[in-house]
Amino acid sequence: MSINQGTNTLHASGQQSILKIVVNTPLRKSFDYLPPADYQNPIQTGIRVRVPFGKRELIGLVTAIAYDSELQPGELKSVLEVIDETPLIDEGMQKFLGWAAAYYHHPLGQVIHNALPTRVRQGKSIDTPASPKVVNAAGEAKLDLQLNPEQKTALQSILDKAEAYHCFLLEGVTGSGKTEVYLQLIAEKLHAKKQVLMLVPEISLTPQTLQRFQDRFTQYQIVSLHSGLTDKQRYEAWIAARNGDADIIIGTRSAVFVPLKRPGLIIVDEEHDGSYKQQDGFRYSARDLAVFRAQQMDTPVVLGSATPSLESLNNAISGRYTLLTLKQRAAAASQPSFKCIDLKGKKLVEGFSEELLEAITYHLDKGQQVLVFLNRRGFAPLLQCHDCGWNASCPRCDISYTLHRSKPELRCHRCESQTRLPLQCPHCQSKNLFAIGMGTERTEDILEKKFPAVPVYRIDRDTTRKRQQLEQTLSNINRGEPAILVGTQMLAKGHHFPKVTLVAILDADSGLFSSDFRGQEFMGQLLIQVAGRAGREQDPGEVMIQTHNSTHPSLLSLIRDGYEIFARQLIEQRKLGRLPPFTYQVLLRAEANKAAEAEKLLHNIRQASQAFLDDRILAIGPLPAPMEKRAGRFRFQLLLQSDKRADLHNMLRQLLPVYESLPQSRRVRWALDIDPLDFS
Ligand code: ADP
Ligand code: ZN
Ligand code: ZN
Repeated sequence: MSINQGTNTLHASGQQSILKIVVNTPLRKSFDYLPPADYQNPIQTGIRVRVPFGKRELIGLVTAIAYDSELQPGELKSVLEVIDETPLIDEGMQKFLGWAAAYYHHPLGQVIHNALPTRVRQGKSIDTPASPKVVNAAGEAKLDLQLNPEQKTALQSILDKAEAYHCFLLEGVTGSGKTEVYLQLIAEKLHAKKQVLMLVPEISLTPQTLQRFQDRFTQYQIVSLHSGLTDKQRYEAWIAARNGDADIIIGTRSAVFVPLKRPGLIIVDEEHDGSYKQQDGFRYSARDLAVFRAQQMDTPVVLGSATPSLESLNNAISGRYTLLTLKQRAAAASQPSFKCIDLKGKKLVEGFSEELLEAITYHLDKGQQVLVFLNRRGFAPLLQCHDCGWNASCPRCDISYTLHRSKPELRCHRCESQTRLPLQCPHCQSKNLFAIGMGTERTEDILEKKFPAVPVYRIDRDTTRKRQQLEQTLSNINRGEPAILVGTQMLAKGHHFPKVTLVAILDADSGLFSSDFRGQEFMGQLLIQVAGRAGREQDPGEVMIQTHNSTHPSLLSLIRDGYEIFARQLIEQRKLGRLPPFTYQVLLRAEANKAAEAEKLLHNIRQASQAFLDDRILAIGPLPAPMEKRAGRFRFQLLLQSDKRADLHNMLRQLLPVYESLPQSRRVRWALDIDPLDFS
């Protein structure tokens, strides 16, 4: 699936050149076309064309130029229009996309489609000048901070190897000044007239984040790329990056595909964050692709996190990446102190222990803010009839509906369907219906009643559907008056709340007992990230964790020894258990209205793979997915695992066409997930 360079000039033998073109289809191949009859200019790879495709017309990309075709000359159709005079994407980018398609075993046409902004996909000309240059607010740039010795060492280590590919893992505790290191590193690259691409998790790309960059680099053009942009804005940012007008590109996952004219550096902030993995369609990891892209562009790449993924940490331990650590918080701030509140046998007032309520009062009285973390949105996870025990549950998923109150309804968190709140039990007509358990809405409610003098801000997927809503809330919080913040993991991601001194984790137990082998890792990252919102300025921070398992060894290790020791222990366990990052995995998922069909497809895929399944490649399944039923469809999984990545990929290369030709494969929706993170 590599892409070759070439032109459409006639072959020495006088043969007509044939354009190999990919379009956005699930077919794993390119299609042959002739150049337009009257077209004189050379056609290069990387150029967009409009082609007839069945009954439709599609925009495609020329990926190679050849002199032979499996089709007879009379069967070849001609390109209708050559859109670009010069390649839309350069040779390096063509190679990168070809590599991504091969690595993820995804059709190249869909990979290219995914990489381009809508307008470019639709064939809009890129020769029109991009947007008027956005000039940053005039004025003096904010000055660099004086780096502390740890920051200096980290920056210098990167600068020493900043001219070619090298991967750094910058592991710095929350608030240790990683961003300050990025800023000073970026400054060096900008002086050298290079562009910098910085990837961030979706939720942390707020105006505050951008502002911090704009304040520092007033003389440079910064563009952002995220899901909140209009097609026009996205197109303009993409063009500005491609033309070299933009100096800094800050974007979420898909920005890893943005073309750069004068690349100098890639940064992946919060590299452990799950939002870097696309979970449907083309299931790529933007973090992993960023490392590959840096290699291909021959620039350094910095992965930063307070809680690195075990994959990255292990790459640092093995010497493939250079590990740089910041152990102290920058400036005056110190690390927050941790305290577990053991709930066993304690009286709880609507989910809160007395001790926690007192601590909240204490911090608010001192004029500070308090963050209450609960990873469950909605009012309550269950609505139950007290008289007959009936539970409201989603018929399409066989799980309990979540009760929502700000928009009163029952909502299924698996398939997002909703239904009206029942006034009485449909089973026994009793009106004794009770909401059981706690969600963020209910917690907000309770806190408003208990602390009427301060505002309570709730941040979860329901309150942040609109970008402006989140931005408004964040700016209210950052006015700094005493307040309580309630929210889900959205609160954990990179925010800097200067006035938060107490972080309360209402329920640590749900994360402790996960069936997923990554459960402990994710729990540790989430806890440390949430805790890291406490005490980021002068006033020391405190973290209180409510749990029924205060002697749980992982929890204890995390709190007592810190993330890195905790993570190194998990790495040892993974090694013993022959799990990633010591083995490589591919997950095949199938879903169908009839469970037997989904299972049968995976069973047949397993059968078709039999010749490869020896002691080097292990297959587990087909098994029902943990989330067995969703939206009326039954879901099954087949896991393939190997000590050698190459063995697994080699097998897939040979067998995917076989899988695709199985009779069930057209009726059953199925997908391939390379390096899966989510096993639900
Ligand atoms: P991180 O990205 O690691 O969470 P930040 O770069 O956001 O950390 O830094 C946390 C706080 O410390 C910010 O308010 C920042 O301005 C401040 N800070 C960072 N480095 C320094 C430094 N060398 N001297 C003083 N303050 C610093
Ligand atoms: Zn009932
Ligand atoms: Zn449902």
